Amino acid sequence: MTNREETLDPKDWEAFRSLSHRIVDEATDYLRDVRDRPVWQSMPEDVRQAFTEPLPVEGEGLASVYAELTANLMAYPMGNIHPRFWMWYMGSSNATGALGDYLAAVIGSNLGGGDHAAALVDNQVVGWCRQMMGLPEGSSGTLTSGGSMANIIALTVARNVMAGALFGIDLREEGVAALAAPLRFYASDQVHSCHQKGVELLGLGNKALHRVASKPDFTIDIHALARAIVEDRAAGFTPACVIATAGTVNTGAIDDLKALRELCDREGLWLHVDGCIGALIAIAPENRHLVAGIEKADSIALDPHKWLHAPFEVGCVLVRDGTAHHSTFALTPEYLEATPRGIASAHWLHEYGPQTSRGFRALKVWMALKEHGVGKFGRLIDQNIAQAHYLAGLVEADDRLELVAPVTVNIVCFRYNPGDLDEAQLKKLNTEIMLRLQEAGTAALSDTTIGRRHCLRPAITNHRTRYEDLDLLTAETCRLGDELVAEGFA
Ligand SMILES: *Cc1c(COP(=O)(O)O)cnc(C)c1O
Repeated sequence: MTNREETLDPKDWEAFRSLSHRIVDEATDYLRDVRDRPVWQSMPEDVRQAFTEPLPVEGEGLASVYAELTANLMAYPMGNIHPRFWMWYMGSSNATGALGDYLAAVIGSNLGGGDHAAALVDNQVVGWCRQMMGLPEGSSGTLTSGGSMANIIALTVARNVMAGALFGIDLREEGVAALAAPLRFYASDQVHSCHQKGVELLGLGNKALHRVASKPDFTIDIHALARAIVEDRAAGFTPACVIATAGTVNTGAIDDLKALRELCDREGLWLHVDGCIGALIAIAPENRHLVAGIEKADSIALDPHKWLHAPFEVGCVLVRDGTAHHSTFALTPEYLEATPRGIASAHWLHEYGPQTSRGFRALKVWMALKEHGVGKFGRLIDQNIAQAHYLAGLVEADDRLELVAPVTVNIVCFRYNPGDLDEAQLKKLNTEIMLRLQEAGTAALSDTTIGRRHCLRPAITNHRTRYEDLDLLTAETCRLGDELVAEGFA
């Protein structure tokens, strides 16, 4: 007798098993052979069209779905798992992390909280992040969708704590309208855009984020910051928080964290460190001195889907005062009340951020850290920084190439400059080189503008990059540049 009920489970588990095995086999080849494929390729029209089909009413079966995605999806990735992807700033994923995401979905647990093993893994990974940063026990943290959400959570805690300390108000209850004077947050002009979204979401408005000039090395000018704080106070504002950047998006510059700690102590301000790029340098033996002082921050945002190469998504926020973190988000409606025993008897993880249901994003980080050890992740960060300095050396050794900003960590700002072109022509030429490198599938890099000079901007956050890939990058940049100049392109 067959069951009358419908279910999403496979009708034929053996057929599901053999298709699953094939998927894992093909995925393994896909990862092994990534170097042999183009970094990126543009999608033909029929592929684009394939993704405009209307809502399927009747199912077609998993084998057919998999055949379609093999044809139309797998060949057209963003490219960030490729050894020559150095665009924006992101990690390159890893095979174990992929298994982690798969198993997390198999277990299917909700990390909003509860008494089950996945919640212990989530806690343990947060604890490991805290240890990597050197924050004391009693600090709290939570895994987030990414660095943006990690920063926004930290800024929320800072806002609420400072509103309480300065005006004695319960900001959760009263809202920003009850603030006697507008709060001001400070960061350098290199600050990541997520902080603007943050102060907007927090109801403080973009003007509450005071951008302070950076120095020629792109770190915050601490004297200018101190002056801004004094001037804002005189003008009736309430300085509340300094957002230090440990690794700016443009050049990788790291603010002087120790000096900022002293300033914040003197002025009674919260110190948040946006370490989405650089916080993890704290685990890299040759370079950890660059982020010394990070362990003194009131809060830190870091991004395991960048330099720990976890598959998207996973970010992490840590807060020194765990109680302040908890009291910013804790809320227990009756349907989430804890019971004395059983599944609902544990500390709720949803009380550390705005999400209620949470994915098991800890597992992919937990598995890879246990498999390789934190030492290897640290060495890989040192390797990327050494590769960036090697690339800078290649740039300096070739008359046609020019370094546009100093290399601090793993971001190299350079351009092709044959000598007799103006800024507009150089921008046109270098943009064309960048696009041709992408379209040929050779390499993916971003561009930016540093002090009015446009440049190419590879960020090497990639455990697959080899030195020979950087030789190829400079050789191809020069070849394309020479060719374009000969054609009279610029
Ligand atoms: C990447 C980045 C962010 C945002 O992190 P997401 O994980 O992309 O949300 C914030 N700040 C800095 C400095 C970054 O590099």
